[in-house]
Amino acid sequence: MRTVIYPGSFDPLTNGHLDVVERASKLFDQVIVAVAKNDDKRPMFTQAERKRQITAAVKGLPNVEVAAFNGLLVDFAEQKKAQAIIRGLRAVSDFEFEFQLALMNRKLKEQIETIFMMPRESYTFLSSRLVKEIAGLGGDVRAFVPVNVERALKRKLK
Ligand code: ADP
Repeated sequence: MRTVIYPGSFDPLTNGHLDVVERASKLFDQVIVAVAKNDDKRPMFTQAERKRQITAAVKGLPNVEVAAFNGLLVDFAEQKKAQAIIRGLRAVSDFEFEFQLALMNRKLKEQIETIFMMPRESYTFLSSRLVKEIAGLGGDVRAFVPVNVERALKRKLK
């Protein structure tokens, strides 16, 4: 059984994240989307809200599960018997941080590989931060996030 963890803040989940989840679900027997608490990033949505939103959005993908995690990612990966971690790469600007993170995780747990995936080109400009900014200014984010996330943004910003 090949299991991969896709960790992130997902505050909120975007179509770019979903694109990576779909690609990963075709390559692995099981994909676990791991929602980090990330309190220091002052998230708009609670960890439980983000987990619920992702669960609803991946309903149609039978080999994808969603979990919340708080500790060290490599420990969580080991606990779930995952062989790999997936991260998304949008542009060169993502590279430096992601490279550092991947090498640090390898230092912490040699046997867990980090794999990078690129989303569809049209999603390379997409980020949770921009989605929140646009929604906060009253812009239309329907092209960037699943419907349930769009509704959650509206509710949160009311
Ligand atoms: P984190 O706080 O861990 O960076 P994010 O939710 O911002 O959490 O991102 C999780 C992962 O998804 C990261 O690897 C990030 O590079 C990737 N990602 C974010 N947006 C996109 C996108 N539009 N397309 C592909 N990957 C993305």
